[in-house]
Amino acid sequence: MKQLRNNVIRAGLEALYFTGAHHLLRPIFAGVGTIFMLHHVRPLQDGEFQPNRHLEVAPQFLRAMLAHLRSRSIDIISMDELHRRLAERNFSRRFACFTLDDGYRDNRDYALPIMREFDAPLMMLVASDFAQGAGHLWWIALGTVIARAACIDVEIDGVATRLDTSTLATKQAAFDRLHDWLRRLPGQDDLEREIGALCVSHGVDQAAICRELCLSWEELKSVVNDPLVSVGAHSVTHCNLAAQSAEIARQEMTASREQIENALQRPVQHFAYPYGDKYAAGAREFALARAAGFKTAVTTRPGMIFPESAEYLTALPRVSLNGNYQDKRILPVLTSGAATAMWNGFRRIDAA
Ligand SMILES: [Zn+2]
Repeated sequence: MKQLRNNVIRAGLEALYFTGAHHLLRPIFAGVGTIFMLHHVRPLQDGEFQPNRHLEVAPQFLRAMLAHLRSRSIDIISMDELHRRLAERNFSRRFACFTLDDGYRDNRDYALPIMREFDAPLMMLVASDFAQGAGHLWWIALGTVIARAACIDVEIDGVATRLDTSTLATKQAAFDRLHDWLRRLPGQDDLEREIGALCVSHGVDQAAICRELCLSWEELKSVVNDPLVSVGAHSVTHCNLAAQSAEIARQEMTASREQIENALQRPVQHFAYPYGDKYAAGAREFALARAAGFKTAVTTRPGMIFPESAEYLTALPRVSLNGNYQDKRILPVLTSGAATAMWNGFRRIDAA
C-alpha cells in the first residue's frame, strides 16, 4: 500500500511538472513562503531494505533545492526572521526556512556544510532525550529488528502473530504493519514496552542507535556556535503529545526547552511537534505551545505560509523534503505550492 501511495504521489508531482500546472497555480498557492522540513541529510545508505528512506535526503538534493531558491531570489531566513516578518506583515520578499528535526549528527556533517555554501540559516529541533543519548528512535530500531530477522513473533492487539521477514517484500510489509500498530498504541509506555521487547528478542540496542545517530549535548554546543544554526525544542521523549494528558504534554514542551537552554545556554523560542500530523498535534497542543510562550511551533501538516498564517503561529505547516521524491524536476513544484494545495483540497490554512 505504501509503495502504491508513493507512486501516486510521485505521479502527481510529475504531472504537475509536465503539465506546467505549477506555473498556473503558483500565484495563488505559493503563499509568501515555505518552511522546509528535513530529518536526515546523508549519502544513500547501503542495502535494499530502507523503510525510513522518506526521512532522508541526499546532500546533493539539499544543494539543488538551495540553488533553486537562490535562482528564484527567494530569501532563506531563520525562524526568528520568519516570526518577525509574519508579525510585521512584511511580505515584500518571498522566503524559505529550513528546519531539521530530531538532532541527527548527519545534520552537522552533511547539511551544515551545504547550508554554509549558500550562507543559509537552519534550525535544528532537538528532542532532549535524544541529545542525552537516552532516546527511543523506535522507527529506526524497528527497521533494524526487521532487517536482521527472518521472522518475527509478536502479539498484536492480543493476537499472537508470526510475521515472515525473510524477503525484501515481506520485510517491507511487516515494517508497515508493525509501524502502524506501534503508532496506534495508546501510551508512550505501551510503545516503549513493545519495541523494547522486540529489540531484546532480536539483539538490537536502542540506546546505541540513539548515541550513534544523534548529536550529544557536547556536540550540539559546538554546532550552535555557528551563526547559521539556531535550535528549537522537539519535546523530551519524542512522544505523541495528543495522546498524553494536558499536563504531561505541557511538561514535554517546557521541560525540553529548559533542558536545551541549560545545556546550550541559548534561548529556545520555537517548537516542533513530534510526528506533527493531525493525530499528534491539534487545537489543544497549539494552545499549549502558545501558552508556553513559544514564538512559533511547526507541524508536519503539508502547506505553504500565507499572510493569514500569522494568526496561527503555533500551527505552522511545512513542506517535507522527502527521500522518496528526490527528482530535481519537482523543486519548482514544491515551491509553487501546487502539491500541498492539492493535498489540502485547495484550502490555504489547516489549523483546526
Ligand atoms: Zn521528530
